[in-house]
Order: sequence, then structure tokens, then C-alpha cells
Amino acid sequence: MTYQAPRGTLDILPEDQKYWRYVEHHASEVAARFGFQRIDTPAFEDAELFERGVGDTTDIVEKETYTFTDRGGDRVTLRPEGTAPVCRAYIQHGLHNLPQPVRLFYIWTGFRYERPQAGRYRQFNQFGIEIIGEPDASVDAEVIEVGWRFLEAVGLSDLTLTVNSIGDAQCRPGYMEELKAFYRGHAEEICDDCKRRLVRNPLRLLDCKNNICQPFIADAPQSAQHLCDECSAHWDDLQSYLKGIGLEFEIDHKLVRGLDYYTRTVFEISPPEEGRTATIVGGGRYDGLIEQLGGKSTPGIGYGMGLERVIENLKRQEVPIPEPESISVLVAHLGDPAKVEAVRLASELRTGGVTSILSPSRGLRSQLRYANTQNCTHAVILGDDELAKGVAMVRDLRHSEQSEVPLDSLVTSFTSQQ
Ligand code: ATP
Ligand code: MG
Repeated sequence: MTYQAPRGTLDILPEDQKYWRYVEHHASEVAARFGFQRIDTPAFEDAELFERGVGDTTDIVEKETYTFTDRGGDRVTLRPEGTAPVCRAYIQHGLHNLPQPVRLFYIWTGFRYERPQAGRYRQFNQFGIEIIGEPDASVDAEVIEVGWRFLEAVGLSDLTLTVNSIGDAQCRPGYMEELKAFYRGHAEEICDDCKRRLVRNPLRLLDCKNNICQPFIADAPQSAQHLCDECSAHWDDLQSYLKGIGLEFEIDHKLVRGLDYYTRTVFEISPPEEGRTATIVGGGRYDGLIEQLGGKSTPGIGYGMGLERVIENLKRQEVPIPEPESISVLVAHLGDPAKVEAVRLASELRTGGVTSILSPSRGLRSQLRYANTQNCTHAVILGDDELAKGVAMVRDLRHSEQSEVPLDSLVTSFTSQQ
């Protein structure tokens, strides 16, 4: 009997950890540069939070949540997205009492019961941000810019930013009537999912991936053409801010996003590859969400960025990941007396702040090969001769140079190089 990781989950082996350190480092760094502070919320929440917050007719809540009743009888859901939990925390901890808007970022693990494929997992990680408490379109541009600058900072290129406006509670109902009227004229021709969407969630008709529905999507009325005056001004402002920052964007009338809570601005950033589950960043404005969750009416905007997809694109674009240049030492030893001294020296080096690995006991050549596999920069070699003289042979493995160093100045010989 052998076990496998559950379907749709990934083991991140040591050789891949550098990618994760790299993206997490840049995420924190870019977020800090824009004045964002980190927030962490639990990996599970009351199931109702997502049913109310994400919407019970969305794909996420209808088909993708891991929801169960715990041993105490509470219905809980493993977090499928980050915005509803952050808004819950905002309300619960009275963050509206802080100077507004608040800028928050998070790096977290989410869970969705999906059909696994490249870029689509049942457990995945996101770098998300939210700006809560400001309706102005300048923060919409700022949120988009954070995502864009992060992707630039990690070294991805050839990305496309698409934006759209889907209106608000004032103008969306009128647009929805037009959309439904258009689709009713084609009710027999659209796919079965869309027949359901037409009744339950018409905006999502534009999101359909089925080929037979594409001609209708192309001809359907467009939300940005049906905005009220306020939404229209907001939409114009956003475009002029983006132009001011110098971010190129495409307007995509099909872009509606998968979550119910979005208002006005929606956007995505995607890599060049077509026809796969490609979108790296998805986000938008959610001015109604906090009120829907029981807080005071408060505007907000944010995005979620899939870090597995970021890393898959880093590999596809062959972006070099810098390795830390720090010193690390293998302490090699020959003979029992030398081994006792080696154990002591390895310990002394670590106490002095130098990374050191005690070599396994084997022939010297094999010990030095081991040093290479551990990416050591130096080997400290101790044998009977060295012990007698009170020195160690220090070999710089990067330059194949070696020299004798007195045992009592070994630690400083390394710390002075760091
Ligand atoms: P998609 O259309 O690809 O299903 P979505 O609209 O469900 O995406 P969001 O909920 O907006 O995605 O999440 C934002 C980002 O999180 C996505 O663009 C993607 O990078 C990432 N993401 C979402 N679901 C998954 C998943 N199951 N596995 C890996 N990454 C994911
Ligand atoms: Mg999805």
C-alpha cells in the first residue's frame, strides 16, 4: 500500500523552495512599497460567510467549496478566496475606526474542489491585496499597479492587462434586463450551463467558455455601454489614471469575473499563452460587500493572484532565480579524534553565525562531493596532521583554492567574509 498526495495538491520539494521564497519576498517588498500592511485570517470560516459574501449561485460556492460540519456541529468552509474573510476581519475588528482607506495584503493558502490541471489545484496559494474605505478610481488604478509592478519585479514579461466596468446597483439591473432580453432570443441555441445562467446569474453568461456560446457573447449588449453617470465618470477616471501611470490595457467587454460581489471595475492580468487556465491576477471593486456582510456601507477593491501560476510562468519564461550568495561550510573529518573536533567546530561555527553542515563519515573525496550537493561554498578539512598543528585546511569550493587556518581563528575567517 503506497500513499499519494491528494488529487490536485502539490508537494513543494526543497529544489522548488527558491521559487516560493522569491515570490513571497517580492510580494512583501512591493506591497510595502505601496504602503500595504499584512493581514492573516484563518484557513476556515463559518460556511455562511462565503455563501453570503461570494454568492450562492457562483461556481465557487455551488461546486468548489470544501464545506463540512465539524465535531461540534458547526458548518465550516475551507477558505476558497480571500476577500470575504478580510472584510469579515475589517468589520469584526472595527478597522473602519482607522484612518481610511486601509491597505492590506496577504499571502495565503486557499482550497477549491476543482478539476485539477496545470495552474488549477485543489489547494493553492495567493498573493492578495485590498484597499478598503475609498471609492475613488485612483485606488483602482493603484491596486492594478501593485499587481503589475509585482509581476514586473519577479521578471515576467508579455503580460496583458484587461479591464472592464460592470456598473453598480443603480445601472446594473437595467443592463441585466437588456442582456436577458438579448439571450432570450437565443435561448434554444446556448449551452445547458448558459440556459441555467440565464435564469439564475445572467452576468455570468458572458463568462462562458463553451464554443457554441461565443458568437452570442460577441454580439451581446456591453455593460460599459450601459453605465449610469457616476459609474461612467468612474470608468473614464480609471482609464485616465492607468494611462497616466503608463500601464497599457485592453478593454474586454466579456470580462465579468466569477464572484458576485464585484461592482464597477473588474480586471485581469494574463500571460501570452492562449487556451489554458492562464489568468494570473483577477480582481475588482466590491462596494456592496461589507454592507452585505453586516458592516456599514464601505467601498473596497482588491485582487487575488495565483502564486502557482506565477511560478509556472517564471519557469516557462525561464526567468533566472537568484540564489542567496551566503557562505555555507561543510566540516569534513578523517579519523575518530578529528571527528570529535569536527563536531565541536561545526557547533562553534553555527554559534558564530556561519551555516555549517557536519559531513557524514566516509572517504574525503566522497565528503567533498557531498559538499557540492549541499551547495556549500567551503569545506573545512580536519585530519590527524591538522589536529596536531592546531589548524584546519579550508578549501574554497568556488575557486578551488585552499589554505591552512588556525582553529581558534576559523569562525572569524568566515564571518569577516560575510
Ligand atoms: P479561473 O477563471 O482561472 O477559475 P477565478 O476567476 O476562479 O479563475 P479568482 O477567484 O479571481 O479566480 O482567483 C484569482 C486568481 O487565483 C486566479 O487568477 C488564479 O491565478 C488563482 N486561482 C484561482 N483558482 C485557482 C486554483 N484552483 N488553483 C490555482 N490558482 C487558482
Ligand atoms: Mg475558478
